[in-house]
Amino acid sequence: MKTLRFTTLPGDGIGPEVMDVALKVLQKLGNLYDFSIETSGHDVGGIGIDNHGKALPDSTLEACKKVDAILFGSVGGPKWENLPPKEQPERAALLPIRKAFGLFANLRPGNLYPELSDLSPLRADTVANGIDTLCVRELTGGIYFGQPKETTVLENGEKQAIDTMVYRTSEIERITELAIKAAELRNGRICSVDKANVLETSVLWRETVINCVQKHNPDIELSHMYVDNAAMQLVRDPNQFDVLLTENMFGDILSDELAVICGSLGMLASASLGTQKNDAGLPFGLYEPAGGTAPDIAGKGLANPCAQVLSAALMLRYSFGLEGAATSIENAVKESIRSGLRTGDIAMGGDPVGTDQMGNAIIDNLK
Ligand code: NAD
Repeated sequence: MKTLRFTTLPGDGIGPEVMDVALKVLQKLGNLYDFSIETSGHDVGGIGIDNHGKALPDSTLEACKKVDAILFGSVGGPKWENLPPKEQPERAALLPIRKAFGLFANLRPGNLYPELSDLSPLRADTVANGIDTLCVRELTGGIYFGQPKETTVLENGEKQAIDTMVYRTSEIERITELAIKAAELRNGRICSVDKANVLETSVLWRETVINCVQKHNPDIELSHMYVDNAAMQLVRDPNQFDVLLTENMFGDILSDELAVICGSLGMLASASLGTQKNDAGLPFGLYEPAGGTAPDIAGKGLANPCAQVLSAALMLRYSFGLEGAATSIENAVKESIRSGLRTGDIAMGGDPVGTDQMGNAIIDNLK
C-alpha cells in the first residue's frame, strides 16, 4: 500500500473548516484506492504569529521539509492587517515557502461546471457548456525578480524607475516540460502566451518552448498567442484553450482573469510545483484554494469546501501520480453540484447548505 506523506497547514479564517473536509475526503479515498495518508497539521499565517511569533514558524518549515507535499489552507485576516507589510501573514508565510522549495510553477485550473454557468460574468452562450482550461504560469522569473530593480533620481531631479525582465533557457525549459506533462493528462494542446513582437525575453520564450515540445513530445499540439490577444480570447471563448503556458507577469494577470470568468473563488484550486522531486520522480508541491480566509463567513460552517478538496485532488495528481484518485475527487465534486447542493457563495438566491453538508455529499459521491 502506498503511503502519501504531506503536511497540512490550515492557516486562518475558513482554512481549518475546509481543510477538515479535504482530510476526510482523502481518508475515504485511501480505502477505495489503496493508499494511506501520513500527515501532521502545523500553524501558519496569523495563527503562526499568535502562537510562535512568526507567520512561518521554524517548526512548520522543518516539518514541510520532511514530506512530499503541502496541503495549504489560506492565511490572513483583520486581526493581523495592521502589521507592517513584510510581516503580513500572506507575504511572510507564502513567499518563504515558495523560496524554500523553489516553487517555480503555478497551475491554476479554470473550471466552471455547466450547472454553475450563471455565476460567470461571460455571456450565457459562451459558457453554456462550462469552462475547462488550465493556466500554467512561471512563478520565479521574469520582471518581478529581474535585476536591476530600482528607482533613482536623475541629474535634472526627476525620478526614474527600472524593472528588468529576464529569462534563461533553463527556466523556460522546466516550466514547458511541466506544461507538457499537464497537457498529456488533458487534451494534449498547449497555447504558449508571449509578446514576441516586442520583447526579447518573449523571442527566447517562444524559441525555447518550440524546441522543448519538439524534444519531449512532438505530438503536443502547440500554438502561440500574443498576450494582448490571449486576454481578449479568454473572454471571447475560454474553451479554445486546453493548457495556457505563460511567463510570470502575463500569467499573474491571465490567471486572475480566468478565475473571474469561472465565477466563484470557492470552487478554484491551485498548485505550485517545485524543483525538488520525490522517489517516484514527481515534483514537491504546495496545493491551496485560490481564495482567501473569507473572514466574513469564518467560523460559521458556511464556507464552500470544494476549492480545498479540489486542491487535494491536484496533490494526488501532480505530487503522488494518482490520476484515478484525483479524477474520482473531481467527479465527486461535480456530482455533488449536479445534485443541486450549493454553499452560499454559489447559491444564486437558492437555499444554501453548509460546509459539512457539501463535504458529506462529496464523500458519499467518491467512487
Ligand atoms: P477572500 O477570498 O477571503 O474573500 C472574498 C469573498 O469570497 C468573500 O466574500 C468570501 O466570503 C468569499 N469566499 C472566498 N472563499 C470562499 C469559500 N471557500 N467559500 C465561500 N465563500 C468564499 O478575499 P479577501 O476578503 O480579499 O481576503 C480575506 C483575507 O484572506 C485577507 O487577509 C487576505 O490577505 C487573505 N488572503 C489570503 C490568501 C492566501 O492565503 N493565499 C489569498 C487571498 C487572500
